[in-house]
Amino acid sequence: MIKKTSVLTLIFCLLLVILSPGLVQAQGGLAILDSSAQAEFPSKLNFSLSAKSDVNITDIRLRYMVDRASFAQVTSEVYIDFAPSNFVEASWTWDMRKTGGLPPGSSLDYWWTVEDANGDRIETAPVRVQFDDIRYPWHSLTEGKITIYWYHGEKSFAQELMATAQQALVRLAKDTGAQLEKPAKIYIYADARDLQGAMIYSREWTGGVAFTRYGIIAIGIAPENLHWGKRAIAHELTHLVIHQMTLNPYNELPTWLDEGLAMRTEGPLEPEYVVLLNKAIVENRLISVRSLSSPFSAYAGEATLGYAQSYSLVDFLIDNYGQGKMLELLTTFREGSSYDGALEKVYGFDMDGLDNLWRDYVAAPAQPSKEAGVHPALIGSLAMVATGLIVGLGSRYRI
Ligand SMILES: [Zn+2]
Repeated sequence: MIKKTSVLTLIFCLLLVILSPGLVQAQGGLAILDSSAQAEFPSKLNFSLSAKSDVNITDIRLRYMVDRASFAQVTSEVYIDFAPSNFVEASWTWDMRKTGGLPPGSSLDYWWTVEDANGDRIETAPVRVQFDDIRYPWHSLTEGKITIYWYHGEKSFAQELMATAQQALVRLAKDTGAQLEKPAKIYIYADARDLQGAMIYSREWTGGVAFTRYGIIAIGIAPENLHWGKRAIAHELTHLVIHQMTLNPYNELPTWLDEGLAMRTEGPLEPEYVVLLNKAIVENRLISVRSLSSPFSAYAGEATLGYAQSYSLVDFLIDNYGQGKMLELLTTFREGSSYDGALEKVYGFDMDGLDNLWRDYVAAPAQPSKEAGVHPALIGSLAMVATGLIVGLGSRYRI
């Protein structure tokens, strides 16, 4: 059910100003006169404070806590540099070009502590700052735990993307038993260029990003790119769900499992990936499962084969051993298990064992019940177009 559509921001200046917490007075003469935070998306957060006292103010600290999933509450503390005085106007800028940024729609809580020469001390109440991308007039659409934000295109465009997201959750739950545990925000930019403007370190091929600890996805979807956009939503949403449910301080998921599940939720493997996979099978150039457990190659062609193999590996595990085992594998990884240890516990074979079984699986003659194209039957006709397609894959790179 669609709950609401609303214009999120009607802000006339580029700076979001949040005034807080007003006058705060300690028992002596120490008082906070004003405090504010200004967001300059995507690169800066400016904090400022003014305070007075009967005697010199000697110590001002800013503390903040970013709202994201973590294993322990992490509070950052900033010592403000200022000349002691009975009236102080202090400021500090979080320059994210030096530290890395925050995604659109993220938030943090901040508060100040101020001390004077009498030893009087004030700690302000925490105030929340929303780090929104106010360069665009966002609309929103919420269904269940998912909210889609968009500014370009009709409501029907957002509804179509929402339907895709909801179907992806259903498909993922059917395959793995994994559910979206916390709310997810999906920001749809008008195209890849707008998306790149929202990121501090954007790479040219970035088309979509899942900020899994924040529960936030950002994707650039141009109207003529809707087919790709729907797959990207299913892909990134899968990363979000799987990372939420397996988050632990000890170990990451093996890349092939993370990417393979995301690829499978998109739908049937696209022909260009099928071509690459089948070509690698014939030429005996498959990448080992052990290698695919680490981040993929920086070379587009090799990385694309990595995605294709990951899809096939996950396909093999789910089709042969079922949803229950996949859920068990994910919950074992949540406990921080090693890659070999988790596979052995759930399936009875390690990464090398999986490698051998899977190679037999893909080398076997195509089964009539399988989707055409996933097996080697198409190698002869499709291999010829493989090279041309690889070039095109650069812009469709997955992350
Ligand atoms: Zn991915």
